[in-house]
Amino acid sequence: MGEFDLIARHFTRPARRAALGVGDDCALLAPAPGMQLAISSDMLVEGRHFFAGTDPEALGHKALAVNLSDLAACGARPLAFTLALALPQADDAWLAAFARGLLTLADAHGCELIGGDTTAGPLNICITVFGEVPPGDALRRSGARPGDDLWVSGSPGQARLALGALRGEWALADAALAALRPRLERTTPRVALGLALRGIASSAIDISDGLLGDLRHVLDRSRAGATVYAEDATLLIASNAHTQSAGGNFYTDLFATISHKTLQQCVLAGGDDYELLFTAAPAQRAAIEAAGQHADTRVTRIGQITSAPGLRVVDAQGAALAERFASFDHFA
Ligand code: ADP
Ligand code: MG
Repeated sequence: MGEFDLIARHFTRPARRAALGVGDDCALLAPAPGMQLAISSDMLVEGRHFFAGTDPEALGHKALAVNLSDLAACGARPLAFTLALALPQADDAWLAAFARGLLTLADAHGCELIGGDTTAGPLNICITVFGEVPPGDALRRSGARPGDDLWVSGSPGQARLALGALRGEWALADAALAALRPRLERTTPRVALGLALRGIASSAIDISDGLLGDLRHVLDRSRAGATVYAEDATLLIASNAHTQSAGGNFYTDLFATISHKTLQQCVLAGGDDYELLFTAAPAQRAAIEAAGQHADTRVTRIGQITSAPGLRVVDAQGAALAERFASFDHFA
């Protein structure tokens, strides 16, 4: 199978939204009149972002999911994406599974594959997504204001908890690992929540490198500080991430088998969550809850934005925690 057979077989589908899709020198894409394009790229590198031998269907899903998460964090509606792929070999079964994971998620979000590039090389997947948002409506990192509540979606920390178990850093019961593994490998981009937060949230970011580390980006951009209620955040790891409902028993059992300190590190500094961390004025609390309901996504208040600069992480009594919470950095 040559380069062009591979593209034709696995990555070429009839263009629906795009005026021109895969097969020419450029794709042609018209956003709806008056809309702004929201654009983001994310690269996944074998051995860096995923283990060698990772299930290709899960990989296809995740490669697009992390990109859709960036659109979600801006409150943009997904339109289309491009796929740049370096492959060690043209393995038909691997490509079929990868394309299935990728395109199933793409279809679920009405996000069309419109082009890309394919080359031989160490496995590397780079996607660029295009979304649309009405001018002035994009959620930005810079909008947090003193007095705003700090909110988070879902159950941050669960992906890191699963990763640690897979790496042998700690042990999880089989049922718990089976329940948590999808949080690492089948990331759910919070696109519906991002759309529902437009006009309500004052700022937003998606958590890819750790909750506190990503919060620091919001604080830098907003020139503000924050107090984070560590205990309220940590409790979230024992809840079902996908809905408003409480989790199964094994979530509650986590507190018996994994140390509290580990759980807290997973929640506050674990990466790969792809939850939305956002701020909103206290007057918006009911609207935020309604947005969460609408998107079928749990939303929880875990802190407050302050005019005093810096980040204070406090326990249930309001005392500052002594632990350090280092976020992920490829070059640190
Ligand atoms: P060019 O040489 O003009 O850059 P290519 O030969 O690399 O074009 O690609 C041919 C067509 O296939 C282009 O439309 C390109 O966008 C598309 N394409 C290449 N690789 C992929 C891929 N992995 N997924 C989707 N489309 C792809
Ligand atoms: Mg090319």
